Amino acid sequence: MPTVEVLAQGFMTATSEGGLGFCSVNLIRGEHLTLVDVGHLARRELVVERLAAVGVKPEEIERVVLTHAHWDHSLNLPFFPNAEVFMSAEEYDYTQHPHAGDWATPAYIGDMLNRTKSVHQLRDGEELEAGIRVMAAPGHSPGSMCVLVETGEGIVGLVGDALPGRAAALLPTPTARIVFWDEEEAERSARKLLDACELVFPGHDRPFRNNAPRFDYLAPQSMTLLNPPRDEDGTIHGSVNPGAVAFVSLIQPTAKRKA
Ligand SMILES: [Zn+2]
Repeated sequence: MPTVEVLAQGFMTATSEGGLGFCSVNLIRGEHLTLVDVGHLARRELVVERLAAVGVKPEEIERVVLTHAHWDHSLNLPFFPNAEVFMSAEEYDYTQHPHAGDWATPAYIGDMLNRTKSVHQLRDGEELEAGIRVMAAPGHSPGSMCVLVETGEGIVGLVGDALPGRAAALLPTPTARIVFWDEEEAERSARKLLDACELVFPGHDRPFRNNAPRFDYLAPQSMTLLNPPRDEDGTIHGSVNPGAVAFVSLIQPTAKRKA
């Protein structure tokens, strides 16, 4: 049976000087060594280090599945030179003609994909190998997709930003929260994936068990803030404002309904 491990925990937080959005990067060991999402450049070193810690070199990664094309999930693609890339046909098509105002799918993502060895365009329900299949989950982006893995612990859903975290699952109507494409599709997809997965590995949070209406994290939070900005004398002038609203508009101007 395939296994799934988190190489780099996803999270999303904001500072008064800009946001920090890091997607989760997960490794599936099955018939192939498969990465689901690869993160962006600020995480390149970390991902390589974490792979080394589990005995895998970047060139040994055989497959990369992109849950969607957003820059924070895809920009490390060139660092896995031998990997075949898998993504939904809808998402690939969109990268070739993205909306000019879509800040998460700039046109250079399409260029990057066209420079990779091979991009396999998937349809809803396709099997990648025994025990691993994809499920369409559009709404957050035009062709968002989940990877469902049958493991010894239950069905694991690597869901990308179709359900970015536990807080999104706890909403009265679970949804992607940040919608770049279609609000109604985003809600339908979140419902569908919660019906399908026993364990949810979200795009920007740590994994949790789906005991709806309860959602239990599998592990405690472990992120440490290193080297915060200091004054000349070493004093740290900073504050934490946990109640601040980090994102003013969750429905992005490129959403289909607003276009
Ligand atoms: Zn996204």
